[in-house]
Amino acid sequence: MNRRKAKAKVARAHRKVRNARADFLHRTSTNLIRRADTIVIEDLAVANMVKNRRLARVISDAGWGEFRRQLEYKAERAGRTLVVIDRWYPSSKTCSNCGHLLAKLSLSTRHWTCPGCRTRHDRDINAAENIVAAGRAVAGHNPGDACGAGVRRQGSSLPQSALKQETRAVRRPA
Ligand SMILES: [Zn+2]
Repeated sequence: MNRRKAKAKVARAHRKVRNARADFLHRTSTNLIRRADTIVIEDLAVANMVKNRRLARVISDAGWGEFRRQLEYKAERAGRTLVVIDRWYPSSKTCSNCGHLLAKLSLSTRHWTCPGCRTRHDRDINAAENIVAAGRAVAGHNPGDACGAGVRRQGSSLPQSALKQETRAVRRPA
């Protein structure tokens, strides 16, 4: 295969990945908007995180900014509420059971036990619980009617902690 052909092939492969990713983001955002009245996301500081070289690829690859943009316009179009939680809210380090705040939680720690109430946490699920609770407080929902839905990135071999994966949906009562 000559050089030009090889180059074209690589470009095609890149295009394919881009399309698959765009498709995934659209399907995921549409799905969330369809089944939830209120969607809570964390305002991840995409620009700041991209300055951190280790996180840059992960964040850019995940298309978080684009995902949020899609949720915003789709929520508006469908009359849904999108709640964006402050990026400095310590969603990962706070125990969703008792509110204990850890001084430190490294990115590589996937599970931890709360020193306050001994609850064992999955890092991402705990963060999601906190974010959905904060979102409910903002949106004024009563605490009984929500359940969450995690959003997983496609083919995730990435350190998911960097994304925290805490997009959760507040479902309509059945
Ligand atoms: Zn606790």
